[in-house]
Amino acid sequence: SAHNGVTVYVRIRPTAQFVQELIELLPDQQTVVVRQKKKSRKEIMLNNQVSSWSFRFNGVLNNVTQEEVYQQVTHSVVIGALEGYNGTVMCYGQTGAGKTYTMTGATECYKKRGLIPRAIQEVFHEIDSRVDHTFSVHLSYLEIYNESLVDLLALVKGGQRRHCTTLAVVEESDGKVSIKGLSLHPVHTEEAALNLLFESRSRILSNATYVTSKLNLVDLAGSERLSKTGSEGQVQKEALYINRSLSFLEQAILALADQRREHVPFRQSKLTHALKDTLGGNCNTVLVANVYGEAEQIDETLSTLRFATRMKCVRTEPTVNKHIDP
Ligand code: ADP
Repeated sequence: SAHNGVTVYVRIRPTAQFVQELIELLPDQQTVVVRQKKKSRKEIMLNNQVSSWSFRFNGVLNNVTQEEVYQQVTHSVVIGALEGYNGTVMCYGQTGAGKTYTMTGATECYKKRGLIPRAIQEVFHEIDSRVDHTFSVHLSYLEIYNESLVDLLALVKGGQRRHCTTLAVVEESDGKVSIKGLSLHPVHTEEAALNLLFESRSRILSNATYVTSKLNLVDLAGSERLSKTGSEGQVQKEALYINRSLSFLEQAILALADQRREHVPFRQSKLTHALKDTLGGNCNTVLVANVYGEAEQIDETLSTLRFATRMKCVRTEPTVNKHIDP
């Protein structure tokens, strides 16, 4: 593989109030400059009212179609997966910034379908054209909800909604991570795979990992700060779990990005543990940071871009997974 780090894109949600003075996209289509008006009196006195930060990514996706996003972000990961490289594509960002739109897309419009149905389509299209190889594709659909693991396809098959407390993240001696108890469904066509996924998509997902062959397609929970949500009861409990698991993800990313750190705290949450072999190395990993273009959201946009910048520093070493029968 050509690159040796996580590939990071930022996607800006289309808006009527796009503020070019606050979020400037440079013509290289890789750099975003964010300016923030300062609030303290001293800064105003000093006539030093604007700070600016420049962020450079593998690409900035602004006013691009779902097809273009797929070609840039996921196509090569899917091709890699068919050649034996693990692949992960995930979306990060505050609620409403476009993670689910990017991953799943607008379900009522074929042209606006997201990365997941497109990846499935390409997998089967490629398999059909590679007559010299035999492929088998298995699909799993995992939700991490309040630190418990839920097998969404087991729910569909069994008919009844039950919490699978038997699922567990297990790690083998070679570092491979798998989810014990998670059902694997053989799928032979694009249609069968889509049926399985969309039949089960009956509620809002917080953290979900889709696993197709060796391909993880991850829709993370909203990254906004807890104080902003101002919620109560069950919703607050959910927000607390989500915040905690994303903050553990950040801690793991920080440790991974710092080459001197030997210990990376993967086991602190189900999410980081489940993603360990993805973030830890043997994987083509792509992150899409979803942000708003509006001035009111600039604080969350900055925090998302900072997370995405740290993600760029995470090294990966994708190698072909070879299984040789004795
Ligand atoms: P998130 O999953 O990050 O909470 P959503 O994907 O649900 O956010 O997006 C919020 C709303 O904005 C949805 O109605 C979605 O259709 C719309 N939206 C997000 N991104 C785009 C985009 N790039 N183009 C068109 N509509 C979008």
